[in-house]
Amino acid sequence: MAIKIYIDQGHNPGGINGGAIAGDVEEQYINYNVGIILADIMRADYRFEVRTSRTSPDQILGYNSSSSLAARVNEANAWPADYFISIHCNANTNPAINGAEVYVYQLYTQAEYLARHVLNRIVQIVGIRDNGVRTNPSLYVLRATQMTSILVELGYMTNPGDLQLLLGDPGNFAYAIYLGCLDYFGLVPLS
Ligand SMILES: [Zn+2]
Repeated sequence: MAIKIYIDQGHNPGGINGGAIAGDVEEQYINYNVGIILADIMRADYRFEVRTSRTSPDQILGYNSSSSLAARVNEANAWPADYFISIHCNANTNPAINGAEVYVYQLYTQAEYLARHVLNRIVQIVGIRDNGVRTNPSLYVLRATQMTSILVELGYMTNPGDLQLLLGDPGNFAYAIYLGCLDYFGLVPLS
């Protein structure tokens, strides 16, 4: 039985659940790219079965923020997925703030262990600052999913160094998330 992974590329193109914007870069664009690359990597590995929340770059989920989030969670719950990975980028009014962090509903859970493995690999492969695994029980996609779920903040779009990493090689982030999942499951890459 393949492990069923639901990859949620956070936000939408356009105004509905639009996400952060830094200069002329939309968060949703980076999230979409990293998620699609991650899905391609995982689909090439028979041990995983993958679905993505957005299947094309111009797809819009929901008609407002809450229905947009619910569409993703409902699909993952109905499948049902074994794991839910939501991909986001951060923003801050202070451009010096940088780094990756991974959010979970609560600590001392499978989600925390998965988050730690994914974050370790992002830090190692991408070379971004480690901001740790954090809890945020108010995040809907963590609260309403019925499976182990994590929300990955890849980096800060408002930090020039992080933005360069995010735009320059989204595949690095995707491969790091894949390796983090393998570590969590005690698997090694296919040779
Ligand atoms: Zn976001």
